Amino acid sequence: MKIKFLGAARAVTGSCFVIETDNARFAVDCGMHQGNAQIEKRNWDTDIYEPERMDFFLITHAHIDHSGLLPRVVKKGFRGPVYLTEPTGDLVKILLLDSAHIQETEAGWKRKRLQRRGNASDVSPLYTKKDAEAVAQLIKQKTYNQSFSPADGITVNFQDAGHILGAAIVEIFIEENGTTSKLVFTGDIGRRHQLMVEDPKTIDQADFLFIESTYGDRNHKGEEESLEELFDAIDYSYSRGEKIIIPAFAVERTQEMLYSLYLLNEQGRLPKDLPVYLDSPLAIKATEIFRLYHSYMDKDTRRIIKSGDDPLNLPQLQFSLSTEQSMQINEMKGSAIVISASGMCNAGRIKHHLRHNLWRPGASIVFVGYQAQGTPGRRIVEGVKKIRIFNDDIAVKAKIWTIGGFSAHAGQTQLLDWLRNFTNKKMPVFLVHGEYSAQETLAALVREKLGFDVTIPDYQEEILLKPKAEVKEIKKPAVEYLSVDWNNVIGALESKISDIKKLKNEIESLPLGRQMEIRDALEEMNMNMDEIKTDI
Ligand SMILES: [Zn+2]
Ligand SMILES: [Zn+2]
Repeated sequence: MKIKFLGAARAVTGSCFVIETDNARFAVDCGMHQGNAQIEKRNWDTDIYEPERMDFFLITHAHIDHSGLLPRVVKKGFRGPVYLTEPTGDLVKILLLDSAHIQETEAGWKRKRLQRRGNASDVSPLYTKKDAEAVAQLIKQKTYNQSFSPADGITVNFQDAGHILGAAIVEIFIEENGTTSKLVFTGDIGRRHQLMVEDPKTIDQADFLFIESTYGDRNHKGEEESLEELFDAIDYSYSRGEKIIIPAFAVERTQEMLYSLYLLNEQGRLPKDLPVYLDSPLAIKATEIFRLYHSYMDKDTRRIIKSGDDPLNLPQLQFSLSTEQSMQINEMKGSAIVISASGMCNAGRIKHHLRHNLWRPGASIVFVGYQAQGTPGRRIVEGVKKIRIFNDDIAVKAKIWTIGGFSAHAGQTQLLDWLRNFTNKKMPVFLVHGEYSAQETLAALVREKLGFDVTIPDYQEEILLKPKAEVKEIKKPAVEYLSVDWNNVIGALESKISDIKKLKNEIESLPLGRQMEIRDALEEMNMNMDEIKTDI
């Protein structure tokens, strides 16, 4: 059989692994590529997925970097079933509709921008709500440990990955020429002792393992103290009469934050007069879905629910569904906790809350999730002094908190511990879903401490897997996307500047008003260059 890495290869987003056997062509995950413009271009290149030739998809969990391109492949001709767990199915439906809405809005803005420049060009979105609704028709929900056979000679089983509600490790048994090989895809592996979900299931046998490596180079700092740090952040801004802004992914992290606030409230440490706003329609819907699937939660949570309590609720919790309600939060004086999306601050209502609070000394911005390269969240965490939001330069004066302990990913030691359970020491290990430097660190440790043969596949790389882990031939990727030809980029800029220099006399002969416009445009460019320099 062959496997092709179409995402989360030397990158964290865009998970998609296409497997071709004698009987079927299918993929594990169909994630959206997120980050900078160059990476996001991959979302448009879905022809290389060959959607009409795809028999089915197995989706590990609802996060958009694992499910977000499903509407795109459906738009491009995929019609087969999409297998996932029950909570994942429900969550994917609302997440994809939301994602389609974002795609349509962005295409609309782009269209208007082009029209204003006099280019009547038609901009189509990556996919539409109609495409997302079409995905919902293809969904087939399974429970953990309910083996099923999506094609001849292929058996699939979902195990609890302990990452987010319904997240699965996928075990795939493939029979070819009378021999059965077992492939294991971890999806995202959860951190042990996470709130709400069980610890990741131990697996001890596989012929080929594809394991995530997001935190391959580090452990989460202060895992034990996360709740204390959250309390400190609340206390800091509450005593100063300012707001506590928590950017959080709508699924899981938001519910974990509610759960944490519930725990603080139970301990009598959450001020009674401190309003808590859940300002994300998507997160509100996701929270409702969480309430439907108690059986997927861990023992501690089930015990609380059985006692008649709801760990996802608080007396002072308010939902803001409409844009007006969201805007009212910004006009409201005094302290409040605001949980809003997106978690990496690159879209959604959180951007408004940052614009209103980032510059306020005494306010708190509390990061509780992974911030990918190229996102505003990452830049704030890395300590920029100002940041551009909605074409405004906003000074960063609020206190920035980064609480690592809430991560839904296993840290380095936990990844190694989980790997240690495998008994077949000849099993090839493929590291996926990680930034390359983190993967190199983990690869060295896995080789040294556990003795496995480790490969870090590249984007579009294709590998031939022979039964029982005996042989693999590796083809080089067809395209190298991630290098930048800086000489070319800078050269193009220099030649434009020299063109403008040559036009100086013509510019000076223009009406004064027009000259001012050109001056303003060039000064804006000048400022952008300054910003690039300071950021570096
Ligand atoms: Zn995830
Ligand atoms: Zn992921």
